[in-house]
Amino acid sequence: MKKRLISLIPGPVSVSESVLAAACHDFGSPDLDRDFLELYNQTESRLQKILGTKNSIIIQTGEGMLGLWGALKSCLRPGDRVVAVCSGVFGYGIADMAEAIGAEVKRLTLPYDQTFNETGELERLVAEFKPLMITAVHCETPSGTLNPLAEIARIKREQGVQLLCVDTVASAGGVPVEADKYQIDLCLNGSQKCLSAPPNMTFVGVSQAAWEIISEVNYVGYDAFKPFKSAQDDFYFPNTMYWHGTAALNAAAGLILDEGLDNVYRRHIEAMYYCIERSHNMGLELYAAADAIKSPTVTALKVPQNVEWNTLQRLCRENGLAIAGSYGCLADKVMRIGHMGTQADLKQLKPGMDILEKVLHQ
Ligand SMILES: *Cc1c(COP(=O)(O)O)cnc(C)c1O
Repeated sequence: MKKRLISLIPGPVSVSESVLAAACHDFGSPDLDRDFLELYNQTESRLQKILGTKNSIIIQTGEGMLGLWGALKSCLRPGDRVVAVCSGVFGYGIADMAEAIGAEVKRLTLPYDQTFNETGELERLVAEFKPLMITAVHCETPSGTLNPLAEIARIKREQGVQLLCVDTVASAGGVPVEADKYQIDLCLNGSQKCLSAPPNMTFVGVSQAAWEIISEVNYVGYDAFKPFKSAQDDFYFPNTMYWHGTAALNAAAGLILDEGLDNVYRRHIEAMYYCIERSHNMGLELYAAADAIKSPTVTALKVPQNVEWNTLQRLCRENGLAIAGSYGCLADKVMRIGHMGTQADLKQLKPGMDILEKVLHQ
């Protein structure tokens, strides 16, 4: 093993020993042994609390992107209309994915350093285009921003849009999601962000309205949602379920609930403020615009003008710190500190930021 780095990568994040240990068993057959079904049901009920929903939650093998694809393919047919709220790499990406499935997509476009703030544009777009689905991203991890969902939910409700699909991969478990309050029909998540489990599970909250459309669309594929509708009642899953991964996710969700959601959210906000203050004192600039909402789970910073990202990243690693760059058009221009899940912890953030400060001084 190489020297252990302080990891402040915004996913996959550090996994605690007890979560790793939960997966370390020679489990039986998840098809035959009802202990698996009990575990699955318990995991579902823990995740419901974290997402703020009574909707059923499907838990599949594969990290976040599997759930994103599964949701879109399970609900959209060619020609279906989608309005996509786009304010970052994932928002624009989901719009492209829906288009790849054959949906007709209209984008509400915002710069990558902004968050959604209603100006009537979404309302007009939805009223004119009458989409089946609105898509949005809660935390845009590559930009370090958090889109508010209340206004999008209001427009969805008032205009009778059937489906609201929200990527909460990098917010759930670090920030309140409140899927039912915001009428999220498809609440998309992965195990390796705030949940702080290994990167092998995706879980999606699915509303009754979404189940009805899923039944009609009848999409068939490894990532299909439909077989999960009756999987628990019939104890018949569509493939061999990943018992170890489910066990780790269950343990990780249990840690969050044991700590208490309010305490967890407070810890993330403290981590964000600490990270922003230290960055500011180092002369680093936030990537997000001044009036954009910053995510308590990740801070995106501009790579300083006179610094090459690759060199900075290498020096940080040589000094014991792992931080991340960004994606798409933000690559090499933006660097990110992930303070989500287990990493929303001043005991790691402080020494991590000390290393960054030392490297920047050199
Ligand atoms: C990490 C992430 C995903 C899923 O990506 P993975 O390939 O599972 O890492 C999706 N959406 C957002 C906003 C994310 O941060």
